[in-house]
Amino acid sequence: MNSFGWKFDSSYARLPQLLYTLLDPTPVRLPKLVRFNSDLAEKLGLDPEALNSETGTEILAGNRIPAGTEPLAQAYAGHQFGHFTMLGDGRAILIGEQLTPSGKRFDLQLKGSGRTPYSRGGDGRAALGPMLREYLISEAMHALGVPTTRSLAVVSTGEPVYRETALPGAILTRVASSHLRVGTFQFAYSRGSDEDLKQLTDYAIARHDPDLAGSGRPYYDFLQSVMNRQASLIAKWQSIGFIHGVMNTDNMAISGETIDYGPCAFMDTYDPATVFSSIDTQGRYAYGNQPYIAAWNLARFAETLMPLLDSDEEKAFSLAQEAISGFSAQYRRHFLDAMSAKLGLFNNEPEDEGLIEALLEIMHKHHADYTNTFLALTFNRAEVKGLFEETDFQQWQKRWQERLQRQPQSDTEVQERMKRANPAVIPRNHRVEAALEAAVNFGDFGVLDRLSAVLAKPYAHTPDQAAYAAPPPQSATPYRTFCGT
Ligand code: AMP
Ligand code: MG
Ligand code: MG
Repeated sequence: MNSFGWKFDSSYARLPQLLYTLLDPTPVRLPKLVRFNSDLAEKLGLDPEALNSETGTEILAGNRIPAGTEPLAQAYAGHQFGHFTMLGDGRAILIGEQLTPSGKRFDLQLKGSGRTPYSRGGDGRAALGPMLREYLISEAMHALGVPTTRSLAVVSTGEPVYRETALPGAILTRVASSHLRVGTFQFAYSRGSDEDLKQLTDYAIARHDPDLAGSGRPYYDFLQSVMNRQASLIAKWQSIGFIHGVMNTDNMAISGETIDYGPCAFMDTYDPATVFSSIDTQGRYAYGNQPYIAAWNLARFAETLMPLLDSDEEKAFSLAQEAISGFSAQYRRHFLDAMSAKLGLFNNEPEDEGLIEALLEIMHKHHADYTNTFLALTFNRAEVKGLFEETDFQQWQKRWQERLQRQPQSDTEVQERMKRANPAVIPRNHRVEAALEAAVNFGDFGVLDRLSAVLAKPYAHTPDQAAYAAPPPQSATPYRTFCGT
């Protein structure tokens, strides 16, 4: 009967009942499959052809539930722009945990699947444009080598959703190594017993850090492990100019995957103060703040683990404090690694951090395009307008060249390393908008298809990518993004 390849195991439904609500998606009127990720389906052990059928579409729309699974909405809490709130999946339902042929476990979640007990005032639905945007950008992030939730499919629902205007509705199938968030732990800590918190944490360790189960201090090591994944993740974001836009604690995954693609966007001109989200009026989640916000969120995470760290409150507090104070060094190491690769460095010298900082300062001063400056350095192109004629840049370049000569690798090896670290293309905001407009307003998915294809191989450096590398034309109105549509 199981021609799809489902191999479900509902482990989350075995956790304490306060952490979730069992419920099915609300059916939609006229589901139509508009995006489908065959490669990912195969990786999950699913049959792409079977899923591409009418029955498959019914499943991806939430109209039909495959046998052997128990759909549920997860409860969580979170600091949203610093304010603590009770939340939960308000418009998403975990339809199942799929065990892959290689033995991995992935959550399959339908986003936009109807109201849940956690919907508060929301309608539980999502619009087509933002779901296509999440599909496009999350898959681009994966291709860029950044850990992320992924997108298996987008189904249009045939129903309108009402925002400022009526928009076509859609459901995204999000795939994640789990949907455990810092906010999940905040929920268990503030609503549950110590035993609930322990069960959740043991579950998270089994799922993400199974090697720690036998450690003498598993909870402390787990905290370190989550911190290290975040340090590595944020360093990758910084290195490609990715701005998440809404780093609330409910949008930080324990797995270290990027999650929640609402207001994210890529930076064009280098400026640490860059913000795209329309609601981030204070710049809390600006590009340059991301590492500090990560540390703040992880401190909230550490607080939730305190009952498990030590039965003595003071000891638990100092353990949490000690761990968190190590984050900035962890982050700097990952950032240095990522940026060194972008400059073709193979080893470390004490001066490297200064070399990187100096380049960023010059880029900031001369309003250089972030991605294209590194591309120009990779290919020795003098095309970053203005920058290469500047004396301070020429002095920097001399310093960089001398640094390159102090390592044994050849020019070719250096360039190969730089090609693997500096993407030829990123999802430029104006390109993303044009692709979504054609798809949503005109039903023309060709622009989106072509953009997706180019973004699938960012390190290929093929000639067809050049057309996608240009920064947006000068505009009087800055680019703005929105959450929750
Ligand atoms: P976000 O800002 O995307 O992280 O979402 C914050 C919370 O709002 C989450 O609990 C979401 O599930 C919920 N939410 C966002 N949009 C809707 C909606 N249209 N209906 C119900 N809940 C929503
Ligand atoms: Mg969210
Ligand atoms: Mg969101």
